[in-house]
Amino acid sequence: MTDPTDTPGGAAPDPADGLPSGARTPAPALARTPEELARMRARLGGRVALVPTMGSLHGGHRALMAAAREQADAIIVSVFVNPLQFGPGEDYEHYPRDLGADIRVCTEEGADLVFAPSAEDMYPGEQIVRVDPGEMGRVLEGEFRPGFFSGVLTVVCKLFNLVRPDAAVFGQKDAQQLALVRRMVRDLNLPVTIAAAPTMRDPDNLASSSRNAYLGSEERRSALALSKALLSGADASLTGPVGILSAARAVLDEAVAGDPPVTVDYLTLVDANTFAEVPSDFRGDAVLLVAARVGGTRLIDNVPLTL
Ligand code: AMP
Repeated sequence: MTDPTDTPGGAAPDPADGLPSGARTPAPALARTPEELARMRARLGGRVALVPTMGSLHGGHRALMAAAREQADAIIVSVFVNPLQFGPGEDYEHYPRDLGADIRVCTEEGADLVFAPSAEDMYPGEQIVRVDPGEMGRVLEGEFRPGFFSGVLTVVCKLFNLVRPDAAVFGQKDAQQLALVRRMVRDLNLPVTIAAAPTMRDPDNLASSSRNAYLGSEERRSALALSKALLSGADASLTGPVGILSAARAVLDEAVAGDPPVTVDYLTLVDANTFAEVPSDFRGDAVLLVAARVGGTRLIDNVPLTL
């Protein structure tokens, strides 16, 4: 594969090479540094939408780019594996990275610019000042991954300042992250509109994720319990929080005893606005959330419910 680092600041290699000329779409411009980004951003007219990603792009990311197109005239996709949001012993070193493949996806989805900086360019010195996600960032994912949301919000804030988008698109797949980004924008008066795209699923209903690549075929079979549990919970939505949770729990309990086993970090029903657990008489927008490990792979999934 062509090493995209061979074309700093220039157009990415044309991924349509070898196709009939009618099938060619222009490759997005590629910015490798904040300075290159600033130069290229200044040339983009109209409304600009940002799609922040860590790369290894799949159908979920494609859906975000399609949603971005509805928000703006130009789409910028950032591809950056953010070291600040990985804890010790997590998969920062092993996280799948393939910028050439990512650029091909961005080309197919009609992105205008890909911003793929190095960690050194994003964090030239120690990142002393960080965004504090508050209590909402310390529960659920924040409890199992201490510092995660501070790392996420800090890099999202930096990306907003570097890209200066009119809109940014995030996935419902990471529901707590989406809610915290919305909250950061509100609490810090950031001049950007946040749009959400629904969770994309693979044909077997597993939520699409870059980390699915870590799963062996048996592990993947066990992992399907997550979406099955959410579906079962959603089917019981008329019975209220207790019924929803027990329907979902019954599916997970089987998977916990399965082979390979699923280890559940949490299964919970939260208020969509606060991410606090709902009381049994709750009415309003809620999210049924699950996080679990299969082998060495940690997976999250959720379904929004109106009670
Ligand atoms: P990531 O590259 O995993 O950090 O994700 C970048 C963005 O893509 C985030 O806003 C995610 O919520 C979103 N995303 C990841 N997977 C999916 C999916 N299966 N469906 C919709 N959005 C997704």
